[in-house]
Amino acid sequence: MINRREFLSSAVGTSLALGAPAAIGKAKPRVVVIGGGPGGATAARYLAKDGKGEIEVTLIEPSRMYYTCFFSNLYLGGFQKFEQLGHSYQMLASQYGINVVHDWATGVDTDKKTVTTAGGASFGYDKLIVAPGIDFINESVPGWDASAQTRMPHAYKGGTQVALLKAQLENMRQGGTFVMLTPPNPYRCPPGPYERVSMVAHMLKERNPTAKIIVLDPKSKFSKQALFQEGWSNHYKGMIEWLPVEIIGKVQRIDPHAMEIELDGDTFKGDVVNIIPAMKAGRIAEMAGVTNDAGWAPVHAADMRSRIHEDIHVLGDAADQGDMPKSGFSANSQAKVCANAVRGALTGSKVFPARYSNTCWSLIDTNDGVKVGATYTPTDEKIATAESFISKTGEDAALRKKTYEESLGWYAGITKDIFG
Ligand code: FAD
Repeated sequence: MINRREFLSSAVGTSLALGAPAAIGKAKPRVVVIGGGPGGATAARYLAKDGKGEIEVTLIEPSRMYYTCFFSNLYLGGFQKFEQLGHSYQMLASQYGINVVHDWATGVDTDKKTVTTAGGASFGYDKLIVAPGIDFINESVPGWDASAQTRMPHAYKGGTQVALLKAQLENMRQGGTFVMLTPPNPYRCPPGPYERVSMVAHMLKERNPTAKIIVLDPKSKFSKQALFQEGWSNHYKGMIEWLPVEIIGKVQRIDPHAMEIELDGDTFKGDVVNIIPAMKAGRIAEMAGVTNDAGWAPVHAADMRSRIHEDIHVLGDAADQGDMPKSGFSANSQAKVCANAVRGALTGSKVFPARYSNTCWSLIDTNDGVKVGATYTPTDEKIATAESFISKTGEDAALRKKTYEESLGWYAGITKDIFG
């Protein structure tokens, strides 16, 4: 038997007497997430959802609406409306109790464990998740910088840039030329530029059938190449010219006013020009001190923990993790592994072994969908491919339609998984 005073001073007694958990009075562990894309928003949602209020989650993201890059090509092709690409953070705040802060993170102090924002706020953290996506490498395309992006859009971050490119394509003169400069490896969404070529061709075939598309590629080969080239020949014969690095050499200079791209021996002029520069992790990753010389953030494969700062995890496009392509699917998959590991570290909850997966669908023409994907396991060195699959050339129309329909289901499912 214990008396009433002893009972109330014990942890159990205090919590029962106050009708609250034993941990009352003790500050909750704090997680700050920088970036509200598939990486950051998924991690924040899973931490809040599975943590059941035990963890204080703050998500810092400047935009009030997130416009997906995934399916932005389908918008260019006329298969999706712009509004369908936009997702708000409302549910994350109201349903999951996440402290959503619309601001830029401008500094990370890894000693004090704080993140500061452009608006002057400061947030302390026990664990920090950095998921800022990509930034472009300045001067990787001589003559092109952010000031040229209204004349020559990159359209490789979601939202207004993609809408601008679409407007330029719709207003291109009859018989005009669309020139695309694709990025060198590694970059977000390996099939992205080539799906874009397909969707632009689909749109031009209807509105501007004598138009031409020229693809200048600093690589020798590209993702799903055989599938795309078969599709281009089936649906858009004579319209698309793909020129690999062996033919184009190096880009010497871009002239946004003349709408020209000067190569080693040739100059290309476009009516609409899409420049997709080389990429690196979003700048805040560098400011947090988690990037390497190549500009990406190396992480441990088991939990996406930074190899440089152990209280920081890096997700999605910004991470240098191994074999996974930089995709929304990958970022979402990595986020769930990371959230489970962070919750385990902060609350002692069970941590499950990491399993990752990815599929990248691409639409070539109406109902002509293809895919490539894999499952992955962590090793000491990297996230390594376990099993992979890819659509085959010569597949029948019914299978291609089914593959496209699968991608519609995926989009609906993943956006719900990210934004609630
Ligand atoms: P992001 O989605 O870029 O999100 C990062 C967020 O961080 C942004 O919202 C940004 O505002 C915010 N941020 C950046 N810096 C800061 C800062 N300092 N402070 C606060 N917030 C900050 N993937 C697929 O899976 N399937 C597809 O079919 C597909 N198609 C694509 C087609 C195209 C044309 C493109 C360009 C990409 C495509 N992708 C696709 C790739 C996919 O969009 C990216 O891989 C994915 O968005 C990466 O997620 P992320 O969370 O790492 O980064």
